[in-house]
Amino acid sequence: MTESTPGTVERNEAQGNGVAASAPASSSAGGDKFAVHNPATGEVVTHVKRMDASEVAAAVERGRAAQPGWEALGFEGRAKVFKRAQKWLLDNADRIVETSVEETGKTYNDVLGVEISYMAIAFEHWAKHAEGYLAEERVKGGSPFVLGRKLIVRYAPVGVVGVIGPWNYPLANSFGDALPALAAGNAVVLKPSEVTPLTSLLMEEAMRECGTPENVFQVVTGEGETGAALVDEVDFVMFTGSTATGKKVMARAAETLTPVSLELGGKDPMIVLRDADLERAANAAVYYSMQNAGQTCISVERVYVEDPVYDEFVGKVTEKVSALRQGQPSPKMDVDVGAIIFPPQMDTISAHVEDARAKGAKVPVGGKRGAGPGDYWEPTVMTDVDHTMDCMRDETFGPTLPVMRVRDEEQAIELANDSPYGLMASVWSKDTRRGERVARRIEAGSTLVNDHQISYGAVGLPMGGWKTSGLGSRHGADGIRKYTRKQAIAVAPRLTPKRDVHFFPYSARTTKIMGRLVKLIYGRGPKE
Ligand code: NDP
Repeated sequence: MTESTPGTVERNEAQGNGVAASAPASSSAGGDKFAVHNPATGEVVTHVKRMDASEVAAAVERGRAAQPGWEALGFEGRAKVFKRAQKWLLDNADRIVETSVEETGKTYNDVLGVEISYMAIAFEHWAKHAEGYLAEERVKGGSPFVLGRKLIVRYAPVGVVGVIGPWNYPLANSFGDALPALAAGNAVVLKPSEVTPLTSLLMEEAMRECGTPENVFQVVTGEGETGAALVDEVDFVMFTGSTATGKKVMARAAETLTPVSLELGGKDPMIVLRDADLERAANAAVYYSMQNAGQTCISVERVYVEDPVYDEFVGKVTEKVSALRQGQPSPKMDVDVGAIIFPPQMDTISAHVEDARAKGAKVPVGGKRGAGPGDYWEPTVMTDVDHTMDCMRDETFGPTLPVMRVRDEEQAIELANDSPYGLMASVWSKDTRRGERVARRIEAGSTLVNDHQISYGAVGLPMGGWKTSGLGSRHGADGIRKYTRKQAIAVAPRLTPKRDVHFFPYSARTTKIMGRLVKLIYGRGPKE
């Protein structure tokens, strides 16, 4: 990134290059600033303002004041802003990529091919479909007592939405969740991860440039306390991050009865059946476990392979993982696997690999820290793994691929479901009917056959976690309706009697007549 970004304080300060590889990603740079590091080099990129609770409250208040004007612009007016922003995104893709790579250490391909593409699709989807998803609905009937009434459901924006995002996808999982909230007519205050705030700050500038009225989309920067302060102030919380923090957010939101939507951790299983196209399955296992250096909530985190094809599958993935190129991301796009964004994550990855080794796993490729400077973990395959090992039960969130031999389909399903998580899963078989049958038995919010992750880009399809992977969903109708308050409107016809039959004064006769009527309509039982 070459230009200054609002919210940043200083850039490339002389804090010294070569921050210790496992130092915290953000460290104090004085009371009201924190440092942002480049994980690929360990260098300090800049310092960003640490906002306190009063600054967060002030931002929400400004958003609240700006929101009615944004709502009044209507769907068409907001769609125009989105189309301008979509063009800005693509015209400025290089600048966004530079910014993101600098704070995440991702490969250029991971930003361009995943984050920018997703955002272009998301702008299009919400610009085109927000109005349809939120159109007023006429409801018919429901009871003879409301005969002749006009019954309507309307979706009104909640007001100010707080979006809290993680460090692994600063564009898609932070800014991306702001889009449907904005499309519904809300103001949004976004709190990106302290590890990766720069992309969000750039998008704040972009949205203003593209015609979003002042204060309709704001970014507040800081650490966990800043996020917690945001929860106290807003009308809805959209949180993406770890399950542990998600629980804290929900508990805090309960204090003010603020609704939440939680997109949390995952431990995605991949089931390779004996009749799978092994070459495609192996390519996919390698890509979807190593893409973004494995730091994707919907990464393939564990693989179960039916016994007859286990050895062949392991041979293929070992060969393919050995061929991956790891290193400092460059515009030449000649690196496959980038850095580990959040330094403490290195400890989790290392602990999972060591635990598996100690319990008898083999590590045919990788299994150790990659060459620095910066934080890298070598693309790793683990075999002979089982469910006594942390790598099969807890989220690793790194470039690791544990592959377990299973007896048959039943055992694969049982083990896939032996997890507190339920975000995404995939089943691989040339018999797609068999694949679908197995996929329906996996306890996960998204299940795919002969694919993984790709359904995330289908913005019309709900995406959300089961079990401890989340609450609510993004995308599709629910992905925008959650940012609204439903209002039921019932309008009596112009000509109404002076007194309805159930009004006072009560009489035994009318109550009995009503009782008979109810029995006549509802008391007949099923048709035999
Ligand atoms: P964290 O839960 O650590 O942090 C998420 C966000 O919450 C950050 O902005 C963080 O701020 C903030 N935060 C921390 N404490 C609080 C608090 N008490 N109240 C409010 N906000 C708080 O997650 P990570 O950033 O480590 O992200 C990785 C996790 O996210 C993984 O588990 C991954 O699976 C999950 N994830 C889930 C996705 C999904 O769609 N289901 C998508 C992407 C990631 P700060 O960083 O400044 O501390």
